[in-house]
Amino acid sequence: MYDKFHDYIFSHENELKKLLGDLVQIPSVMGKFFENAPFGEEPKNALLYLEKVCREKGFEVTNYENAVLCADYNPQGAETTLGILAHLDVVPADGTGWNTDPFKLADKDGILYGRGVIDDKGPAVAALYALLCVKELGVPLKKGVRLIFGTNEENGSEDLEIYKKHDKFPPNVFTPDGSFPVINIEKGMIRGCFISNLSERGNIMSMGGGTVINAVPDCAAATLQSVTREELLEEISRDSTGVKFAVGQEPDDNRFITITATGKAAHASAPDGGKNALTALVSLINRLFDSGKLPVSDCRQRDVLRGIEKLFPFGETDGGSLGLKCSDESGALTCVFSKFTLTRSSAVGQFDIRFPACMKLSEVAEKCREIFSENGFGFEVTLGDEPHIVSPDSDFVKKLLSVYEKVEGERGYCVAIGGGTYVHNIEGGVAFGAERGDTDYHMHGDNEFITAEELLKDAVLFAHTIAEICG
Ligand SMILES: [Zn+2]
Repeated sequence: MYDKFHDYIFSHENELKKLLGDLVQIPSVMGKFFENAPFGEEPKNALLYLEKVCREKGFEVTNYENAVLCADYNPQGAETTLGILAHLDVVPADGTGWNTDPFKLADKDGILYGRGVIDDKGPAVAALYALLCVKELGVPLKKGVRLIFGTNEENGSEDLEIYKKHDKFPPNVFTPDGSFPVINIEKGMIRGCFISNLSERGNIMSMGGGTVINAVPDCAAATLQSVTREELLEEISRDSTGVKFAVGQEPDDNRFITITATGKAAHASAPDGGKNALTALVSLINRLFDSGKLPVSDCRQRDVLRGIEKLFPFGETDGGSLGLKCSDESGALTCVFSKFTLTRSSAVGQFDIRFPACMKLSEVAEKCREIFSENGFGFEVTLGDEPHIVSPDSDFVKKLLSVYEKVEGERGYCVAIGGGTYVHNIEGGVAFGAERGDTDYHMHGDNEFITAEELLKDAVLFAHTIAEICG
């Protein structure tokens, strides 16, 4: 089939790559707040650069507080019905595994490497060229299109709060900041913190694990006294968790002995692939208490660890022990005990729960509050988000799926995920692209990539989408 969008986009390959390269060169990681640079200088520089490009290309441009840039195309002056939301900020590229400079676009046999090429600068460029293609080919549009480029997706999407102060979103918004075909359901999320005071007499000198709240912790450690290395090794030999334990004596004080646990990290929205080092360590220490190898010199310390094991047993990821197990078509509830710090005087734990669309935030929060207080812990919700649901039968979703099937030649269907996308708080918004299939694009990791062909295909698909929805 002759496809004028395909021909236009593929004949502009070098321009798309040039623009992507220019954007990758701006290390738009969140920085310090300055006046007129709400998320730091570099995200602002990326926004100002794209503002100039959009103006040159003949779009009507609006810059909201250097936080969000809009490029409008509305030849009939009618209602703007479609919004395409992408972000120009990126996560840091501190990893040592990069084979190329992360802030310089590298093209290796058609594979484009650089920070942000898939998340989300590549999709942003594809959206811009899709609209340019529709405009330059003179495709008649009855409704308007707005490209919305934000600069704070990676750090809480405060940019969209700024946008909302000035303007409302078009009724149909998609973000190419997830995956194809369409993500229409995002689970709800609750992050909580529980706390207990201790008497400073316990034999656990310190204990901790986890570095971020939204991941299964792959490391944990504890420093103990009044237990011998042999006793520890004996208890470890009976462990069946699959988590690796190592024992070390404190070099400057041989009264103390340290155990480290190494498990496997996994994102909190898909914890099944992980091995929780923290819950494994809690269980090991409880067995030391129960067998008498570790004397209980502070009952509260023992009760805290027992309580934690009761509520977050090793290997459980469905929240069953919190009384929250539940699932629907959006998937099963997941629960991860992700961070813990025990000092002489207190124990503080944190967890991350993703709950299915059939539950409400208040309901989950109330159940947590009850069960933590029953177990003697203080509790507070640190972050909460309702589920985001868009009907698969909505006109918008049906159109996206049919364009996808037509242009890509792949079956279109809706997906529910445990994570939140950029449209989580936009009514009716869905994610549409840009990851395809099972490919691991190393998003947020070293050697992030997109293929040049995928970049161009995204632009072609988005051009068809604009024509379908606004034509
Ligand atoms: Zn993103």
